[in-house]
Amino acid sequence: MRRITIARGDGIGPEIMEATLSILKAAGAQLEYDEIEIGEKVYLSGNTSGIAPAAWDIIRRNKIFLKSPITTPQGGGYKSLNVSTRKFLGLYSNVRPCRSLHPFVSTKHPVMDLVIIRENEEDLYAGIEHQQTDEVVQCLKLISRPGCEKIIRYAFEYAKQQNRKKVTCFSKDNIMKQTDGLFHQVFNEIAAEYPDIQNEHWIVDIGAAMLADTPEAFDVIVMQNLYGDMLSDVAAQITGSVGLAGSANIGEECAMFEAIHGSAPRIAGQNIANPSGLLQGAIMMLNHIGQSTVAASIQNAWLKTLEDGIHTPDIFKEGITKQKVGTKEFASAIIQNLGKKSAVLKPVSYATDTKMNLPKYVPKPPAAKELDGVDIFVHWRGGTPDELAQIVKKIELPAIQLSMITNRGIKVWPEGFPETFCTDHWRCRFKPIAGAKLDKKQIIQLLENALAQDIDVIKTENLYTFDGVPRYSLGQGQ
Ligand code: NAD
Repeated sequence: MRRITIARGDGIGPEIMEATLSILKAAGAQLEYDEIEIGEKVYLSGNTSGIAPAAWDIIRRNKIFLKSPITTPQGGGYKSLNVSTRKFLGLYSNVRPCRSLHPFVSTKHPVMDLVIIRENEEDLYAGIEHQQTDEVVQCLKLISRPGCEKIIRYAFEYAKQQNRKKVTCFSKDNIMKQTDGLFHQVFNEIAAEYPDIQNEHWIVDIGAAMLADTPEAFDVIVMQNLYGDMLSDVAAQITGSVGLAGSANIGEECAMFEAIHGSAPRIAGQNIANPSGLLQGAIMMLNHIGQSTVAASIQNAWLKTLEDGIHTPDIFKEGITKQKVGTKEFASAIIQNLGKKSAVLKPVSYATDTKMNLPKYVPKPPAAKELDGVDIFVHWRGGTPDELAQIVKKIELPAIQLSMITNRGIKVWPEGFPETFCTDHWRCRFKPIAGAKLDKKQIIQLLENALAQDIDVIKTENLYTFDGVPRYSLGQGQ
């Protein structure tokens, strides 16, 4: 018996959880449950995180969490429980299989069968945002080497375990050369360790277009958090319905399984919700905890039920559906079909050995890191970039000089274009003159000079070389 944590959630959550638990029980899953309360009621009781400390203890003790969707109340101050669960528990890998069920679920992509592996902990979801000037706000995109290595290795190990042939990486490193550049570089490094698995890379914009147009060209796709958030919904939707897809959130210690959809409050309490998404999450959970035979038996019964034309209203289609049923009746039909196999949809069999080789992250030896300059960001609403340069040059030190000013990344001094639109947020780059070196005391001196000149410095960013290579963006310019 394996003890797991469950939460029935909000909206359609309780109905789809009840249906899922009834199928798990009938199929002989060896599970015991601790139930916790999360979501709307907890938020509205004044707990802005939507979960009580005691519930965290239960989740951490059991390590496996099957979760129904929840409703996050409107208005400020309520933190996303999904994002905090993934980050607090270190659930770095979000696995979302998207497979079409043609001809039983209507789709334009009859042979689609892919898995999106989304990095779950970093990227813009660090949620570090600041307003810095009247006109400009920023959100920090943080990408780490351990984050990249863990998710990309997971994608290749997943492909190996599931007997998949290819792993594709989506990134935008033609623009974000440091952040997305690191993701792409680590992808190349790890791909080289898996010569039996094909690998390829696409810039995310054309990759996304191809995913929407030709999903059959993809197998496993690995990507950063934001791209994965968006594109896994696209992929699920084009199989026929978001109501059919489940998701696994995997960490080194804990794992959480869920449907990809939300709490669908408008159809709650009417026995019409499709429980398939949560059931797919539960099947991934059974595989994760080594109950693969039960997982396969449920998946095959589910495929047979869809093939029999027994459909909930969201996938109802005249001419295909034989029986339109409610949530409970759909679950009963799956239970009736346990032990049977579909004829057209390919039945599944899951490997019983689901181990993956996911070694702990080993930091590389530190590189030689040298201070190479400093970007001083300034809030200024005066006139032209040339005028700003005259003001800012007053803070120069004999060996540390203003080398460039950019506005939203575009070089506007020296030799900017008058056509370039400028906001009140300026990056002023200071570099040592040839033969000189910059140290941190000099940065403090520059800032003191700025204070004396009444220049509104909003932040500084040190520029470094690592092993002699500059690791900072240059100004985009002519
Ligand atoms: P949603 O996924 O709940 O609903 C989108 C559409 O899909 C609706 O028309 C809904 O009726 C339909 N739908 C969704 N699941 C279905 C199912 N199982 N069967 C049949 N139809 C289904 O998205 P939303 O309306 O944007 O969000 C509603 C609430 O859910 C919000 O409070 C949101 O914050 C929350 N949400 C929670 C999660 C989660 O807990 N993991 C994820 C997304 C949204």
